[in-house]
Formats: sequence, structure tokens, C-alpha cells
Amino acid sequence: MYNILMHSDEISRVEYDPNHPFKPGRGKQLLDLLKRHNLIFEDNQKIISPEPLDESLLLLAHTRYYIDLFKRADEGEFSLEMLEAGLGTGDNPVFRGMYRFALLTSGGTWQGAQMLDSGEARFVFNPIGGYHHAGKNHAGGFCYVNDIGIAIMDLIKRGRRVVYVDVDVHHGNGVQDLFYKDSRVLKISIHESGMTLYPWSGFQNEIGADAGRGYNVNIPLLKGTDDEVYVEAFESVVPPLVKAFGPDIVFAQIGGDVHKEDPLAHLRLTSNGYKRVIQTINELSPKVMATGGGGYNVYKTSALWALAWATFCGLTPSDHYAGVVGGMMYGPEAHAGSLEDEPFVVKGAEKDEYRRHADEVVDYIRKQVFPIHGI
Ligand SMILES: [Zn+2]
Repeated sequence: MYNILMHSDEISRVEYDPNHPFKPGRGKQLLDLLKRHNLIFEDNQKIISPEPLDESLLLLAHTRYYIDLFKRADEGEFSLEMLEAGLGTGDNPVFRGMYRFALLTSGGTWQGAQMLDSGEARFVFNPIGGYHHAGKNHAGGFCYVNDIGIAIMDLIKRGRRVVYVDVDVHHGNGVQDLFYKDSRVLKISIHESGMTLYPWSGFQNEIGADAGRGYNVNIPLLKGTDDEVYVEAFESVVPPLVKAFGPDIVFAQIGGDVHKEDPLAHLRLTSNGYKRVIQTINELSPKVMATGGGGYNVYKTSALWALAWATFCGLTPSDHYAGVVGGMMYGPEAHAGSLEDEPFVVKGAEKDEYRRHADEVVDYIRKQVFPIHGI
């Protein structure tokens, strides 16, 4: 079974707007890092350039009304309805080619899910995917089309059991909303609390409704939280729930904006905590459809994704250039020369506060959600 990277230069060249923080160019930067660290030359690995999604599949996660507005905005039309649907805002600017960009990026996630389902692949990574804020009838948070929702909907219609784990620093509200009453998908999002960060949601008491009650799990953490507290909370909640649910496929939204050097958010993870949760996801999953997501420190995000790729593929990075030219490194990563960060640990009263909050959240989930899964 193959490990597959979805990559195309066409996607990497897209710019929402030169000043917009969301950079599809991270896909190219990731590929460069994978080459440099000897992570993309195995016989069981393939790079695939995604096909655009069949337009009819957009309706799995969106209304025809919204898709129509989106298409017309791309063709240069303007209406107030578009703005009301989040199109043409600072977060979601209208840019030429955005419809094709959305079809290509959501096509990558959908195609990846098909290859996993057919048994052709064990792990697929679509780095310029993971648009977890896009809603049924609106764009939001840099997301236009919910690639994850489309691919998951298609699988559950065919009777597959799916787990969605979202480690992006922002709450995965779009995916939560699509499947809030659905027990065929177990959704778990761990993120910076909605008290301090967009999309201002994702509290622990949002546990799903009707048949979906207990199948939506949120782990909000305080601004400033470090690796240690994050990993403790993740390990307390995710493995028992995923084991009890027993998925066929796990979707992982692995946004790199949890990093402590991310300019738009305030958790303080390093590659150490990030890698640890990726390892756990990998061990829990029969098959993995990973998508990128946020990550606004471009180099750090690409480095985290390279480490995630290595972990899912069972490889250890080794730098081609280490020791060359007196140990000097080139490029923006010159100061680091490694994909990994030094450990960073918060101590004292501040740490106690992060831990107390995380413990309260974990207790709530253990009491309200675990029993629904017989644990
Ligand atoms: Zn994010």
C-alpha cells in the first residue's frame, strides 16, 4: 500500500492576495524539505497531482445557492449576497481562479480518500487541503470549500466509519456543523479556546445532538498552553475514544498554526509536542487521510508537515546538506538547520493555570462523552 503526497505546482503558485497570510506555496516548500531530508524517495511513495473535483460532489457539503454565488464571484460578478456568504471579505477575498483552486484542493482530499478506501494507499497527505471553516452556505476563515466534509460525506454514505481529528489551532467548526447530528463520524477538535481565538466556538459542552450526541468532542485549551499540557489532554481523550469507535479511516487535519511562532494564534507547541500527537494518530489509525490547514509561519509549518509526513511513513529525516560547507545552511532555515525545535516548557503558576483548565475539560468529556461510548 502506498503513501501518497498530493502536490501540484499549479496549486502552489496560487495567491489569494499578496498580503494574505494563507500561502498555498507551502506545498512547494514542503516538497523541497522532503527532498532535502531524504523523505520522498521510497518505492512505496508516490506524488500525485490532484484532479479537479467533479462539481456535483460539491453538493455533498454545500448548497447549490452557495456554489452558484462562489462560481459567479470567480467570474467577476459582484452582489451583496456574495458578501453575506463571506465572499469578498478580508479573510476570503475573491480572486481569479479561486473556483478551480477549490476544485483542485478538494479533489486532492476526495481522491485521497478513494485511494485509501480501495486499499491502494495506507496514508495520503494533501497539504493544501483541510478547509475546516467552510460552511454549507458560506466561506469563512480562509476556507471556501469544505474538502474534508465532502470526502467524509462520500465515505459514510457507503457505510464507512470515519474519525476526524483536528489539531489545527482553530476549532474545526465547519466540519462540526456538517456532522453535528451524525454518529457515523466521530469528530474531535483540540484547539486554542474560543474565548481568545476565531471562530469563537468549540467549547467542551458542544458534544453533538440527536443521534450525534457524544460524537462531537472539543478540547479547548488556554492561550499560552505548551507541549506538555497539550499532549496530556490529547492522550487522555483521543486514544480511548478512537479505540472505542473503531474507524475504517481516520481524517487528520494537521494545521501547523499550533506552533509557538505562529503569528495568528497563541498556543505554544514545538515540533516535539506536535510529533508526539502525530505518532499517536498514526498508531490509532488503520488508514490516514491527512490534510494541512492553517500555519502562518511558513517555514515552521512546512517543517512540522515534513515531520508529520516522516512519522506517517515510518521514516527518520536525514539532512542531505548537513556538514556541507563547514556546516553552514542556506535558505530561510539557515538558523535552524533542522526540522525539529528545542524543547520549550512553561513552569510555575502559569503552567498550573493551563493544566487546571485542561483537566477540567478532560473531566467534562470523561463524564459526558465517554459513557456514550461504553467507556
Ligand atoms: Zn487554523
